[in-house]
Amino acid sequence: TRQFTRPLNDLANQWNTLLSAVAGAERVFEVLDEETEAKDEGAAISLVRVEGAVKFENVSFSYDGSSNTLHDISFEAKPGEMIALVGPTGAGKTTLIGLLSRFYDPNQGKITLDGLDVTSIRRESLRSHMAFVLQDSFLFKGSIRDNIRYGRLDASNEEVEAAAKLANAHSFIIRMPEGYDRMLSADGSGISQGQKQLLSIARAILANPSMLVLDEATSSIDTVTEIKIQEGLQALMKGRTSFVIAHRLGTIRAADRILVLQGGRLLQQGSHEELLKQGGLYSELVQGGRREVLDKARH
Ligand code: ADP
Repeated sequence: TRQFTRPLNDLANQWNTLLSAVAGAERVFEVLDEETEAKDEGAAISLVRVEGAVKFENVSFSYDGSSNTLHDISFEAKPGEMIALVGPTGAGKTTLIGLLSRFYDPNQGKITLDGLDVTSIRRESLRSHMAFVLQDSFLFKGSIRDNIRYGRLDASNEEVEAAAKLANAHSFIIRMPEGYDRMLSADGSGISQGQKQLLSIARAILANPSMLVLDEATSSIDTVTEIKIQEGLQALMKGRTSFVIAHRLGTIRAADRILVLQGGRLLQQGSHEELLKQGGLYSELVQGGRREVLDKARH
């Protein structure tokens, strides 16, 4: 399962590592500009407020300039909707997120945010309206308080704690002797995988973005923590356009729209009920022998 999630972590961590390693935002973006990722247009604009209406219009993308990894993808997410991305490994889910967050730009077609072509939006601005909650959350050496505050650096201690409460992280934090001052190592040793996720949910709530990218856990987490995570995620997703790489049937069913990808093509889209009626890959995934694609967590 690590292999399954690594590309998305790479995308997010590339961003996080640069942010923490380089002081001063201007420097960060200079460094990123020299990397291989999508370039900002000269006239790129910054967005102050984002509603979160996302539209892919006939988007195709190729990593190597010859064969397409994504083929003619079209869908729409209304502000606040939850979109589940479903499909086997290699289907293109991570690549789709990479396009949305402008790690890459489409070769054909167009992606719009609130009606604006995303290639006209500065990457730093676009991503300041997005948060990533991944299976392996990014932590750095520092206190729990500072690790949460990373979501919004000027947040007060009270705001950090309010976010932790909404995320369901507060109770485990205050059970530790040092509480919010508890020091973490970069690998988060000493706290559990589930607790790391609660911290990254708190961080995302503090950041208060209009758009979210979630990579649902496939590793097994104890039931009590799992319930806390699910509740924390509900609080986080409320009112934000969310893209969830989903493995659990419960999450997928709750989505406003499910995108079923295979081989870089969007085979089906719709609600759980609509897709079951259609038959095809989705009902195969849900009902048939390929359930393992959805339910990695149980293996
Ligand atoms: P998923 O997230 O659904 O598992 P990905 O978007 O990671 O799928 O991968 C889709 C396809 O693109 C796969 O065939 C994968 O090997 C390929 N791919 C992913 N990242 C890169 C990359 N950086 N360079 C070249 N090919 C890539």
